[in-house]
Amino acid sequence: MRYGQIRHYDVANGPGIRTSLFVTGCNHHCPDCFNLEYQDFTAGDPWTEKETAEIISYLQEDLTRGLTILGGEPFEHPQALWEILTQIKTQVDKEVWIYSGFIYEDLIQDSDSLELLKLCDILVDGPFIKDLKNLSLRFRGSSNQRIIDLKKSLGQDSLVLWDEKSRDD
Ligand code: SF4
Repeated sequence: MRYGQIRHYDVANGPGIRTSLFVTGCNHHCPDCFNLEYQDFTAGDPWTEKETAEIISYLQEDLTRGLTILGGEPFEHPQALWEILTQIKTQVDKEVWIYSGFIYEDLIQDSDSLELLKLCDILVDGPFIKDLKNLSLRFRGSSNQRIIDLKKSLGQDSLVLWDEKSRDD
């Protein structure tokens, strides 16, 4: 797996101050993609143990609420991300958001993707659709995209959206 960047402090991709990881490689090719350069599977740098340690150190800071994984398409690399998240979680337990151009109903049909989802708390799903673009939406670009509470959804076999009002931010 390759990655385009790690942001130490990010306030745009999930609640609170977060560390974010942008993987590279995506086959969705959404018109008006917000990260065109990260569609390329050869963009960025190869992931190593150094990057895993870097993320762990950022997440260990008290002010960092969690980790967000986006891209590119994270679910082009479900096994690699599963291994990285498993390693991170042995050192620090913080909330994990993950973005995908695939929809939840399709991701849970794929065993590797399902295992990765089980390590995450929130999924923002679906491709960016230009005609449904809405700048007033939090943490997503178009109104087809859903913010899904994975702990509740995977636990009860029905989709539960994130309850934004229950959060303290
Ligand atoms: S899923 Fe994201 S990275 Fe991939 S083409 Fe669509 S907007 Fe771009």
